[in-house]
Amino acid sequence: MEVESPDVLVSEEFVESQTLAPAEIYARVFRQMRPRTPVPLITVKFLRYANASAKIKLEAGEMEVRIADTLAGAPDSVMEALAEILLSKLFRRPVPAHSNLRYRQYLNRRDVRRNLDLIRQIRGRKQVEDSQGNCFNLDQIFEQLNFEYFHGLMARPILGWSPNASRTLLGHYDPSHNAIVLSRILDRPGTPRVAVEYVLFHEMLHLRYPAEHRGARRCVHTRAFKDAEKQFGRLREAQEALRRL
Ligand SMILES: [Zn+2]
Repeated sequence: MEVESPDVLVSEEFVESQTLAPAEIYARVFRQMRPRTPVPLITVKFLRYANASAKIKLEAGEMEVRIADTLAGAPDSVMEALAEILLSKLFRRPVPAHSNLRYRQYLNRRDVRRNLDLIRQIRGRKQVEDSQGNCFNLDQIFEQLNFEYFHGLMARPILGWSPNASRTLLGHYDPSHNAIVLSRILDRPGTPRVAVEYVLFHEMLHLRYPAEHRGARRCVHTRAFKDAEKQFGRLREAQEALRRL
């Protein structure tokens, strides 16, 4: 859950779509750069790096690309830009300026930067599954909400508190790691429990209602999502408490 201003608790998030398998993108860029060379066997692996980074190697007719899994959700245009960068480096050619620009612009996008920061924070810690905070136990709250709103049917994801007390990013669901992380700013004695419940409930709805594709765009807070969110019992009280954080 992202807070843009005290009056907007939940913002509409849109991201571009992904349609092509990453290996297809690399094959296409390879053909553009080396039209007369047969396309090698291409494997693209997404690995758990703390940062956004990527490597490429070509050995015995096999090409292996290793990309940080933090980039796994990047749109095709960004994947293609990264492929042009990596293949240019592999063939010792100058990197096209437009590819560099597109890739950098993506990494500098506010939502992408925030997401990277958060993943870095979580992975920088010894224990990811630290659901017991100083004041609230997320496992307990999850099970309570699960029982109340999801018939107890939701499988529990990894739950944890962020090391940093962010006021603008109160909660985050990371589908690639099946993890919900809540900002530590909520884990304080003065925070009403209902505020924590509401933020966790919002993130649980992201598991329940996956993003929908509308043409080239992806809608994160769908109509069904928003309707379900209104079912939260003490909505007004929770939103009031969050405004006072
Ligand atoms: Zn949300």
